[in-house]
Amino acid sequence: MTSNHPIAIIGGGLAGLTLALILHRNGIPSTVFELDATPDARRQGGMLDMHEEAGQFALRQAGVYDEFHELVLHGGEATLILDRDATVLFEDGGTHGGRPEVDRGQLRGLLLNALPDDAIRWDAKVAAVRALDDGTHEVALADGTTFTTSLLVGADGTWSKVRALISGVTPQPLGLTFVEMHVPVSVDTTVAGNGSMFALADGRGILSHRGSDHSLHVAAAMTDEPTTDRDALLVRFERWSPALRALIADSTGPAIAYPINALPSGHRWQNRSGVTLIGDAAHVMSPFAGEGANLAMLDAAELAAAIIEGTPLERFERAMLERSSVASEESLATQRLCFAPDGAQALADLMNSFGPPAE
Ligand SMILES: Cc1cc2nc3c(=O)[nH]c(=O)nc-3n(C[C@H](O)[C@H](O)[C@H](O)COP(=O)(O)OP(=O)(O)OC[C@H]3O[C@@H](n4cnc5c(N)ncnc54)[C@H](O)[C@@H]3O)c2cc1C
Repeated sequence: MTSNHPIAIIGGGLAGLTLALILHRNGIPSTVFELDATPDARRQGGMLDMHEEAGQFALRQAGVYDEFHELVLHGGEATLILDRDATVLFEDGGTHGGRPEVDRGQLRGLLLNALPDDAIRWDAKVAAVRALDDGTHEVALADGTTFTTSLLVGADGTWSKVRALISGVTPQPLGLTFVEMHVPVSVDTTVAGNGSMFALADGRGILSHRGSDHSLHVAAAMTDEPTTDRDALLVRFERWSPALRALIADSTGPAIAYPINALPSGHRWQNRSGVTLIGDAAHVMSPFAGEGANLAMLDAAELAAAIIEGTPLERFERAMLERSSVASEESLATQRLCFAPDGAQALADLMNSFGPPAE
């Protein structure tokens, strides 16, 4: 039998959960369908900085701003830019507090805990979606069940299934791969500082982020053919400082390759009744502006406001796509600058152009 859900949100990432929570706080029920079997099925990894006007705004709307502050990693905003000899070209002590850093998994846990258990269906992979003649949509899950919905929200990330209902555009590779590794606290990682570190040269990078448990999340970034073999990686970074190479050599666990994909920055669609997209499903972009999660949460807050106020979704979509297109262009420009031959100096110059760094 086909059931009905008035508002169905596909994807329980930051976008989908933020939307469900703001609606719930305003007395509007919705159901999130998430393909992961359980909340802990996947390591969420990494740190995110929450911007005042985006992520923090959405957390206020969701009523979890105070709880979020308890999760902030103090000093996590520190930034270092190094060349391949580990010479410091830019340093920001991260003491200004304007963009607090939080562990992505803990942030997701905060949103999950604030939602009623029955607001999320785990192990619910969407296999197909189709428009029905009456303006509603039918969703088929991989377990063979189906349901209909009056409002279908695609918050299902880069490879969104919902997107095909309104747009024929798919993400394309940006020619950059992050090979991600983890360095335990037992290893000396002083070179990486207390927050983010970008070591860049010759179209490659060793990027890192200090985690809330002080271990290090490292990505070897490369624009040529990626490899996850540590010995092969060390050959790629042969002429780099021993302290930076040690972040690869002393990492533990599997090295995992993540090719970076993006939708074109001007991605648009014709508004269609009963269906919309938010977050990466709508505008996945290069990660070099550090905006994706923030924009995903802002989209969620603005879509929730449009649903609560009953304003046309077309207006919400137009504003979302305008701001994400600006961020997407900036992000791609920063990515290109980082992976140019003298990327470290170019990124340091860009950072300095924003004004003097904090102590
Ligand atoms: C290397 C890297 C670093 C980044 N750093 C930052 C940063 O510092 N700051 C920042 O703001 N952003 C950053 N981003 C961007 C950020 O991670 C994303 O923009 C953000 O996670 C998007 O959230 P979302 O909820 O739209 O999508 P996602 O987080 O991808 O969530 C989508 C959810 O949908 C589920 N799903 C997918 N398909 C289906 C299906 N068929 N059925 C059911 N469920 C489905 C998935 O399991 C997932 O839980 C970074 C991205 C990358 C790649």
